[in-house]
Amino acid sequence: MGVFDHPEFNGHESLHFINDPASGLRAIIAVHSTVLGPAAGGCRRWSYASDAEALTDALRLSRGMTYKNAIAELPFGGGKSVILGADSAPKTPELLTAFGRAVESLDGKYITAEDVGMSVDDMRHVQQETKYVSGLPQSGDSAGGDPSPWTALGVFLGIQAAVKVRLGEDSLKNLSVAVQGVGHVGAHLCQLLHEAGAKLFVADVNRENLDAVSNAMPVTIVPPAEILYADADVLAPCALGNILTAATIPQLKASIIAGAANNQLSTLADGARLSDRDILYAPDYVINAGGIINVSHEYYGGSSDDRVRADIEKIPLRLATLFAEAKETGRPTNELADEFARRLIAAGQMKQD
Ligand code: NAD
Repeated sequence: MGVFDHPEFNGHESLHFINDPASGLRAIIAVHSTVLGPAAGGCRRWSYASDAEALTDALRLSRGMTYKNAIAELPFGGGKSVILGADSAPKTPELLTAFGRAVESLDGKYITAEDVGMSVDDMRHVQQETKYVSGLPQSGDSAGGDPSPWTALGVFLGIQAAVKVRLGEDSLKNLSVAVQGVGHVGAHLCQLLHEAGAKLFVADVNRENLDAVSNAMPVTIVPPAEILYADADVLAPCALGNILTAATIPQLKASIIAGAANNQLSTLADGARLSDRDILYAPDYVINAGGIINVSHEYYGGSSDDRVRADIEKIPLRLATLFAEAKETGRPTNELADEFARRLIAAGQMKQD
């Protein structure tokens, strides 16, 4: 399959394939749009089954970043990078600095940060070669550091907004939430949900991450293959994407889906499938914008945690508007969010022209 006729190719501005045999780095940087600002989006390191799978991920994730940044009203376009071979190419300082050089070579068109498989420490290595990086250790009171707790906060507030609309409840007390994936975001989310009195079902393929959460609070551990179908009020996907499909949706028991994972819907039609089942879906890139909001405050500087928090508190308001529009029109929330994002980008394009 070619790149330009790839089903996930969506008018991307540019794609960059990086091959650095000395460090073992093989990566793809996808710049989807720079209309609203430099293309910002994290770097994912993963063991892809094939190069084609990595390309698909980079294309989908970068487009999602354009929409996410637009709706979050950030001065960013959308991009994303993937590093291939998490199982075969060790994450050495050499590999990370080679990635930093690749980012630098784009001259600010792409700004990176951490995503799945990357950490704040990794970004320090990347920073040795480029200034176009965020998600670095926080210094003093200024905004910065690991975006995951901020993503978790946005998801938590989004779950509250969805619960209010779908279940008519003001509190999460005695409601149950099934959290798929208790890594960086999932673990922080569990803490917030636990403090709010929710009952937790959790699953992870990583025993260490599962133990850390189950030692910190009461949870019911569910096998990874069963978590999507847990008998819970809310399903919060916080692992990987492509989990809401024609095969999985008919078996879901939760009436709300609200989680951090990017690209939860396998196809656009899956949003309609959820809507047909009266399952309220919080579009992933709307609810999970907390981390990139923090990244934006850090990157542009002169900000504080209070200002980050104030911006993240707008996430449930945006969701409430989408939910109300979906109720009024009978249309799926994902379609409404996509349309809203495209309108914002078109308006930005008109300003440039
Ligand atoms: P992470 O790698 O720290 O955590 C993901 C967890 O999911 C890991 O513990 C992993 O073992 C687990 N997992 C993987 N496959 C699983 C499966 N089949 N069943 C159960 N668990 C599984 O990543 P993260 O930073 O917490 O991000 C989680 C998701 O949220 C990703 O999709 C990411 O793109 C998205 N996201 C993260 C941020 C952020 O700030 N970190 C921001 C926006 C979106």
